[in-house]
Amino acid sequence: MPEAITGQETARGRRPMRELIGRMRTKDPSVTEEVYLTELVRCQECEQTVPIGIEVVTVKRDKNFRKVLRHGYYCRAHGHDYETDVQNRPMRPPKKRTDKN
Ligand SMILES: [Zn+2]
Repeated sequence: MPEAITGQETARGRRPMRELIGRMRTKDPSVTEEVYLTELVRCQECEQTVPIGIEVVTVKRDKNFRKVLRHGYYCRAHGHDYETDVQNRPMRPPKKRTDKN
């Protein structure tokens, strides 16, 4: 799988970049998976540290709280599915709940 991590030299000494590239919904409507492009990630699959990797944060939301359930870290190869999935899937607007008002 060709990877293009060329061109941009990341400056050392500043805080790592972390960019939200999308969110995925799960079966549980209160749980979403947030997919980030993150610098210096150690992949939990192959245990390699990569300059840019995929960070997947599973978040549970309720009305007033946000709780991180799980963190996943992957290299671009192992996080490929997450990355493409989240970019190909437009975020659907959340359903309006009218049962409780
Ligand atoms: Zn990996």
